[in-house]
Amino acid sequence: MNNDKKGFITRSLHTSFPKDDAYNALHMPVYDGVAYEFDNAEEIAETFAGKRFAHAYSRTSNPTVEYFEKKMLAVTEARAAIALASGMAAISNVLLSLVEQGGNIVASHHLFGHSYALLKQTLPSLGLEVRFVDMTDHSAVKAATDEKTRVYFFETITNPQLEIVDLSKLSVLAKDKGVAVVCDSTITPPYVFQSKRFGVDIEVMSTTKFISGGAAAFGGVVLDNGTFDYLKLPALKEWAVKYETNALVARIRKEVFRHLGGSMTAHTAHFMNLGLDIMPLRIERCVENCKKLALFFETHKQVVSYNYPGAAGSKGYKLAQMQFNGMPGAVMTFDLESKEACYRFFDRLKVIRKATNLNDNKTLIIHPESTIYAEFSDEEKKAMGVRPTMMRLSVGIEECEDLIKDFEEALQ
Ligand SMILES: *Cc1c(COP(=O)(O)O)cnc(C)c1O
Repeated sequence: MNNDKKGFITRSLHTSFPKDDAYNALHMPVYDGVAYEFDNAEEIAETFAGKRFAHAYSRTSNPTVEYFEKKMLAVTEARAAIALASGMAAISNVLLSLVEQGGNIVASHHLFGHSYALLKQTLPSLGLEVRFVDMTDHSAVKAATDEKTRVYFFETITNPQLEIVDLSKLSVLAKDKGVAVVCDSTITPPYVFQSKRFGVDIEVMSTTKFISGGAAAFGGVVLDNGTFDYLKLPALKEWAVKYETNALVARIRKEVFRHLGGSMTAHTAHFMNLGLDIMPLRIERCVENCKKLALFFETHKQVVSYNYPGAAGSKGYKLAQMQFNGMPGAVMTFDLESKEACYRFFDRLKVIRKATNLNDNKTLIIHPESTIYAEFSDEEKKAMGVRPTMMRLSVGIEECEDLIKDFEEALQ
């Protein structure tokens, strides 16, 4: 099939299996087994020597997981993909594979909490330096970069600040400095964001969120656009001699991932395979709901302010139109007059669910200041734009009238 001419859903649904199924199954079967047999000594020796590809042991590769990787390649412009146990496994494997001891990462100061902790605690303990900056401040990024900078790491839309990096500017700087652009696009997955067109070299995602659909299973994926020259990186130089633009995924698969054991299970890959097919339908519905909710917030007198980059009045609107096709995910925030008002409203909700996750099919709400950011000082919270009056909403696919009714009743 010529992928260039087909739409996202068609490509996802009709990705051919890596091998013909013995029973002509229409869905990729779940290969739950661990080990795979070989016919003879020569075959097994050649496989172990890397001269031919065959599955041998499911921690390093598995047919159902391979199919999910193949689907991710079919719906994107990436050149190489590897699926892992979680979003955190994807992020940690990528950074550990790209950066050598003594090398540094320039990262956004606004990150998903566990990513922040990985960069603040774990990576420095292994001798990787991390410099946190405001990634939307071009001169700050430039000033933090030196000859030992290997990676720019940031999220396409930060949460809960909902800030957006101007990728056209950042990618020019990265090319100039020989730095790899690595973005976490969990909340703007491939259907709304074509990372290669904006100069991103490597994309990491938690597939737990939009891709799994309905928060059915944990997972992560790494997509390499094949745009970075890995000969420039001390950590990948030797791999690049052999694997060229595939050096990163080769090192992850043959070394870091294999040795740390962060593999995705076949069952999880099955959920991801199903979830990816209908993700575009779900995202379109979520975005439509967000836009309707923005209009509701606009007119409701108890809502002091709101933020959704897909709404014309919001700060990130212009960049969101350009970089995310006008579909900048489904996370929005709004402020009520006080923390007490937030709590009162929260406790009265009946349809919207009180939980911390993102991009479930269900609409979820949380008061970030007293939960996700509870362990930070007031000063740190302020620097992170986390206000006591702010609520965060992850909008799902319910009929919007039901969400608005729930809001109206809880705000009374
Ligand atoms: C959830 C999330 C992660 C971590 O993903 P897990 O699958 O929970 O490990 C990373 N980045 C972002 C932006 C997320 O929302």
